[in-house]
Amino acid sequence: MAYDDDNIFARILRGEIPSRKVYEDEHALAFEDINPQAPVHVLVIPKGRYVSMADFGTTASPAEITGFFRAVATVAAQLGLDRPGYRMLANHGDAAGQEVPHFHVHLFGGRKLGPMLTRVQAD
Ligand code: AMP
Repeated sequence: MAYDDDNIFARILRGEIPSRKVYEDEHALAFEDINPQAPVHVLVIPKGRYVSMADFGTTASPAEITGFFRAVATVAAQLGLDRPGYRMLANHGDAAGQEVPHFHVHLFGGRKLGPMLTRVQAD
C-alpha cells in the first residue's frame, strides 16, 4: 500500500491539525488519543512515511527503528507507566482494524488493563 500524505497523522506531523503533544524528538511524536480507551492512552508515531508495522519494520533505517522504540520507552517512562505497568499495541491491516495508515503504537495505562484480548469476534 502506498503512503497517503493526507492521512490524519501526516497532517498532525505537519501541524495542520492540532494534537495534545506529550513528547517529540528527531524520530517520533507522541500525543493523546482523541478517543481514549484507558485513563492514559497515547499514540507514538515515527516521523517518516510508513504505512504500517510491516512497512516500518522492513523499510525504515536501523537509526529510525532504534530511535522510534527508544522514544516509545521514554514516553512510557515520562508518563510514569513503567512501575505500575502498561500495554503497547500496534494494529496492522484490516484484520486488526487499523484505521490510520501511518504506523503508530498505542500506549495504554493508568489502571489494571485486564486480559490482552477481551473479545475476538467470530466470522
Ligand atoms: P488504529 O485503529 O490502530 O489505526 O488507531 C487509530 C487511533 O487514532 C484511534 O484510537 C483513534 O481514536 C485515534 N485518532 C484518530 N484521529 C485522531 C486525532 N486527530 N488525534 C488523536 N488521535 C486520533
